[in-house]
Amino acid sequence: MAPNEKTTADHLRDALDGRWRDVKNQTRVQLSKEAFRPHHTPNTVIARAKVAEQMQLMANAGISDEGFRKEHGGTGDVGAAITMIEMLAMSDLSLMVKAGVQWGLFGGAVENLGTERHGDYIKDIITLDLLGCFAMTETGHGSDVQSLETTATYDPETEEFVIHSETPTARKDYIGGAAETARMAAVFAQLITHEDGKPVNHGVHCLLVPIRDEDGNDLPGVTTSDCQYKGGLPGVDNGRIMFDHVRVPRVNLLNKYGDVAPDGTYTSPIDNPNRRFFTMIGTLIRGRVTVGGSAGAAARVALDIATRYALQRRQFSAPDDDDREVLIMDYLVHQRRLFPLIAKSYALQFAQNELVSKTHDLQTSDVVDAEEQRELEARAAGLKAANTWHASRAIQEAREACGGAGYMAENRLIALRADTDVFTTFEGDNHVLTQLVAKELLTAYADDIKSMSPVEWVRFAANTVGDRVMKRTAAEAIMQRIIDARQDSEEEGSLFNRGTQVSMFEDREDYLLSSVARRLQGKSKEMSAFDAFNAVQDHVLHAAQAHIDRIVLEAFVAGIDACPDPEARELLDVICDLYALSVIEEDKAWFIEHRYLSTERAKAVTRGINDRCRVLRPHARTLVDGFGIPEPLRYAEMLHPENLAD
Ligand SMILES: Cc1cc2nc3c(=O)[nH]c(=O)nc-3n(C[C@H](O)[C@H](O)[C@H](O)COP(=O)(O)OP(=O)(O)OC[C@H]3O[C@@H](n4cnc5c(N)ncnc54)[C@H](O)[C@@H]3O)c2cc1C
Repeated sequence: MAPNEKTTADHLRDALDGRWRDVKNQTRVQLSKEAFRPHHTPNTVIARAKVAEQMQLMANAGISDEGFRKEHGGTGDVGAAITMIEMLAMSDLSLMVKAGVQWGLFGGAVENLGTERHGDYIKDIITLDLLGCFAMTETGHGSDVQSLETTATYDPETEEFVIHSETPTARKDYIGGAAETARMAAVFAQLITHEDGKPVNHGVHCLLVPIRDEDGNDLPGVTTSDCQYKGGLPGVDNGRIMFDHVRVPRVNLLNKYGDVAPDGTYTSPIDNPNRRFFTMIGTLIRGRVTVGGSAGAAARVALDIATRYALQRRQFSAPDDDDREVLIMDYLVHQRRLFPLIAKSYALQFAQNELVSKTHDLQTSDVVDAEEQRELEARAAGLKAANTWHASRAIQEAREACGGAGYMAENRLIALRADTDVFTTFEGDNHVLTQLVAKELLTAYADDIKSMSPVEWVRFAANTVGDRVMKRTAAEAIMQRIIDARQDSEEEGSLFNRGTQVSMFEDREDYLLSSVARRLQGKSKEMSAFDAFNAVQDHVLHAAQAHIDRIVLEAFVAGIDACPDPEARELLDVICDLYALSVIEEDKAWFIEHRYLSTERAKAVTRGINDRCRVLRPHARTLVDGFGIPEPLRYAEMLHPENLAD
């Protein structure tokens, strides 16, 4: 091979890197520097100090401005900003979370919910001269943000808002940065003005509230505390905040979607309070996209480490060679444990690339189609859940696949496991997000539902039965070509035809959605909307899961189509097969029960997976090389037996 010729692994990496390939390559160089080498300590003091140092290095290097608009001193490249934060997950998840809170959540709230009068804050947020936190969750309410109890009551006499924790459960909780570092909080609170002397609640809004002075002391009326030790993320100072009638100027309201005039008159470009709330929350979608992508990156690091270990670790003598033991990667069960997870990592990364691209396009566009926005929100929710659940599963499997060595901190897997655990909960609990996906699907992304109460939307969903049309997410032409080439036969080989696989995914989603909608329709006549929805909640989640699996498969198909190298494409085809067959195997019972799979073909699925594991075995290293994780970021002591003598 000529020196500059690309290897198959290079082509795989390019395919997985997608549209922000250049940003990924630049970030790989930055993260390979000594300061970003993965380190592990459960000591929160050391971990927090290290993250602060790394954040400053990033700000000094001028790489924290990507996501902010040009008029605020940024580059306006939303995709680059998301990509950069996701990549940090390969170095240290505490760093990823702190960067995500400062520049993504806090900075994102100021930029997306604020107006010109808040533009000056952005410069200081980029440089870290203003450290902030995103104070949404309360002890009493996490998933149900509309029911937060903190109030922001306007006082026209002084032209100030009074921020108050009305009850003990109104305490802001788990907030990243609130324990120690944040000087200012973006506080979500019920906005109250007075009309004819009576209080009027306009729903949840966001206000900037200074919480600490320059010396780090709580400001008057503010009481912060430290969540201390957690299940992971030792470098993140999660904390709690209570407000006792804290006054902030009127202009501290982030007023893009709702404003209060000096005399106390409330105005908003969006009349309906539900619609206003969901529009505000929709603009903060970037955090969710980043969390999913970062979990995906962490899963790839773990699978990379476990695969390399399996390629050097030997256990039990080989039958025909007493002097040699068997490489653990040569055991079918070991391949069965790692390869389907590697395949899913590939699949999810292609889907994540499409999501980042779509987020970028919509957030940098002047005119946004309402249906497109809702589709984006559903996709971000679904892929956040898929990526974070995958990370939990893959990292645990990688840990076990490395035996006792996998449990040693120096080999990274336990930190990856502990740090990603909570990714299934924050930025939206996965079960709640999966329901959100179903809600969008059942209502065909109709913009009207933003304005509806839960009772109204269940009725709407029940009546939308039959109006839904399956929307393909990847290039329609590619998918149609593939579907047209499907093999509708009982033969075993048809299962390995991509068109047949895509059809099986589509049919399952369509069946589950239509049947849940019909059940909802029937039950709505007999019981309350809440009871009707609750009676089919498991079915709803299954339908959403089927949808997520389908859009991931479509993204994989489009990713293969875009790969120019024949050898890499051939390998991607096998990996894609493994992904599709693994999904079918996991839901085998459903496919059999609904007669989409005979028992004979169901057995063929299992055989097909085993065959593909055998085919991929010689390419194990290439598969993980394709993840493109720089050597310093996938360093694990057990992979360097040459250090054993020390
Ligand atoms: C380490 C960490 C960092 C965090 N950082 C921040 C931050 O910086 N800023 C911030 O604002 N928040 C932050 N959070 C809060 C986080 O976003 C919330 O914990 C999350 O939204 C879930 O809310 P909850 O904890 O109240 O769980 P709950 O909403 O009480 O959920 C508990 C369980 O009930 C289930 N459940 C809830 N509703 C339903 C339903 N309708 N149907 C079925 N099941 C349901 C959920 O699936 C879940 O399993 C952080 C949390 C942690 C742990």
